[in-house]
Amino acid sequence: MRGTHQAKAGGAASLGQRPPRLDFRVALFSALTLGLGAATLLVFIRHFERNRAEETATLHASAAAQAVVDRLQPSDLEGPISAERRRELDRLFDARVLDDVTLTSAIARSDGRVVYATRGSDVVGTVLTSRELLGRALAGTVSSELVTTPVDGSERKAFRAYAPFRLADDSTGVLVVDKDYGPIAAAARRATITVAVVLELVLLSLWLCLFPIMRSVTRRMNRQLDTIAHQALHDDLTGLANRTQFGKQLDEALEAEAGTPPRLAVFFIDLERFKEVNDALGHDYGNELLTVVAARLADVVTDDEVVARLGGDEFGVLSERAIEEVSALAVAERLRTAIALPCEIAGVSLEVQGSIGIAMAPEHGTTRDELLRRADIAMYAAKRGGAPQVFSHGLDDNSPLRLAMTGELRRGIESRELVVEYQPQVDLRDGTVRGAEALVRWRHPRRGLLGPEAFLGAAEQGGLMRNLTRYVVEESLGQLRAWRSAGLDIDLAVNVSARDLADARFPDEVARALADHGVDPSWLELEVTESVLLSDRLRTSRMLERLVEQGVRIAIDDFGVGYSSLGQLKTLPAKVLKIDRSFVSSMESDRSDEAIVSSTIELAHRLSLHVIAEGVETPAHLARLRTAGCDIGQGHFLGRPVPGDQIVSTAHALRSSWVPAPEADVVPLRRTG
Ligand code: C2E
Ligand code: MG
Ligand code: MG
Repeated sequence: MRGTHQAKAGGAASLGQRPPRLDFRVALFSALTLGLGAATLLVFIRHFERNRAEETATLHASAAAQAVVDRLQPSDLEGPISAERRRELDRLFDARVLDDVTLTSAIARSDGRVVYATRGSDVVGTVLTSRELLGRALAGTVSSELVTTPVDGSERKAFRAYAPFRLADDSTGVLVVDKDYGPIAAAARRATITVAVVLELVLLSLWLCLFPIMRSVTRRMNRQLDTIAHQALHDDLTGLANRTQFGKQLDEALEAEAGTPPRLAVFFIDLERFKEVNDALGHDYGNELLTVVAARLADVVTDDEVVARLGGDEFGVLSERAIEEVSALAVAERLRTAIALPCEIAGVSLEVQGSIGIAMAPEHGTTRDELLRRADIAMYAAKRGGAPQVFSHGLDDNSPLRLAMTGELRRGIESRELVVEYQPQVDLRDGTVRGAEALVRWRHPRRGLLGPEAFLGAAEQGGLMRNLTRYVVEESLGQLRAWRSAGLDIDLAVNVSARDLADARFPDEVARALADHGVDPSWLELEVTESVLLSDRLRTSRMLERLVEQGVRIAIDDFGVGYSSLGQLKTLPAKVLKIDRSFVSSMESDRSDEAIVSSTIELAHRLSLHVIAEGVETPAHLARLRTAGCDIGQGHFLGRPVPGDQIVSTAHALRSSWVPAPEADVVPLRRTG
């Protein structure tokens, strides 16, 4: 199983598309944008602070130039400056220009040559390199630049300002002032850090206020999205997945891993007589019934199966476990039983039957539409037949594949692909296996082991029933001979169809087969369903008489599902009555069914009929049937259909675990199947 399908009604989580965690995204996004905004602001502030500091330095240079210009002489610009004049200038600069943050100061002529520099600087005689700034200063604008300058033997970053001056003789020059850049940068940094701290605190508190609001908003949004998504994919009334969701999950399941074809079963369920309930009790009670059925279906599907309401009184189930027809029919039986439990609606006890059609992938299709359509076709066949039905091409009258299916079955019979399994029929007094029913299967080369429901329709419609019955009779009489030769004292039951009884050659064929295998006719029982017996009574009776004359026994199969009474059947030459498994299974839950079974057994005994109960599935079934005096039991609890050579071991196991306790309500018998 690919494991992604949410089981049952499919919760919101099954959508696989939860809305994104918006709260975290918003938190992250807002934190990022706020952080980015703050960083930009800080860069800007830092730039602004630095500009301010630089402006102060420039102003200072300008003021310094003003302060010294009246004491400068035109001869100072001609140079060289005498030692004495130099000392005078040193004093002048000490007093008016230099301060804690001024590293050096110098006087340059208009051609850029430095004529004087304060102590510690050796630039006198050099020419200023920045001609552009010099030119700008001489034009009247104080200009500045960032330089590295040697101070006391080490390089220092300095902020250099050029301030112009004009002397009395109109000669011009530039006062150069180098300010230590460290304190300027430090002041800018201090201002920036203060602003940064305040700004971050404000932004953080803003973000903290915003976050819970965003969180609650996104949570509410998520909840609403969940609700909307749930409503889009679920049925309002029952809460089950709806058709859309079912289709989606089916699509997903069909998207097999590369290379492996998808294997699954689709069940299409339709409630019988739902319309009557709706009309008789009203819409509200109809809805109540649908809700009850939905809840039961959701209860009996396993975690990896999906159940959905497809509309009206139709339900769908998807199972990836049921990959063979036998297991799909077992799932259908589980669903059918759950639906059929009685329920009380509007004070009325109702029993609803579900008709179940099954389509399997890949045998019947590999797309959603194909599978649903075929499960639907099978469902209609199930309605007619009264039992869950696996799709077969024979059912699809319009299908061009029908002929192909018939051809395949003909070839299958010829190449001996049919196999017969045997289900023990157990004496309820002592646990002895008295007989075995032959049940045909088709080991299909591609589709695996197919149950009879899958191909009997095609055999019927394709005119292959005679071949099929002949095959089963041959095969099982051979097996019966083998059992008898091995000392196993059991009889054989073989199912025959309406077609067989309509064929005048049938009794002779049976006689020949009995003789060929050296089998005593009294060891053979032919099972005929109620409906077959009643369809063409005159002709059927004549055929049955001919068989009975040979010494073969006739059993009435599936008794109770049709509408006949024992009174109608008593004229037929039948010796055995097989009570349908639907009665046996409802004995547990319905006292009136238990009474019907008991009185049927009693009446059958009075008519000298031997009674076999089908579908003995639990110890409780067994106990009730024993109490009711039933002769023979057949069912999964006593033994499933098995290959012929396993009947001996089944018989041994049954005998050794049998508890003779007819009075006890529950017989502790070990399972054998
Ligand atoms: P049936 O004759 O009523 O056979 C009994 C069916 O009930 C078998 O199904 C058997 O496997 C199933 N069964 C037995 N015990 C239990 C139980 O405890 N619980 C449940 N739920 N089911 C149980 P299968 O083998 O699928 O056969 C279905 C039907 O197909 C048979 O019903 C019979 O009508 C028909 N069939 C089978 N083999 C042949 C055959 O060789 N020829 C003809 N004409 N029909 C056949
Ligand atoms: Mg039968
Ligand atoms: Mg039956």
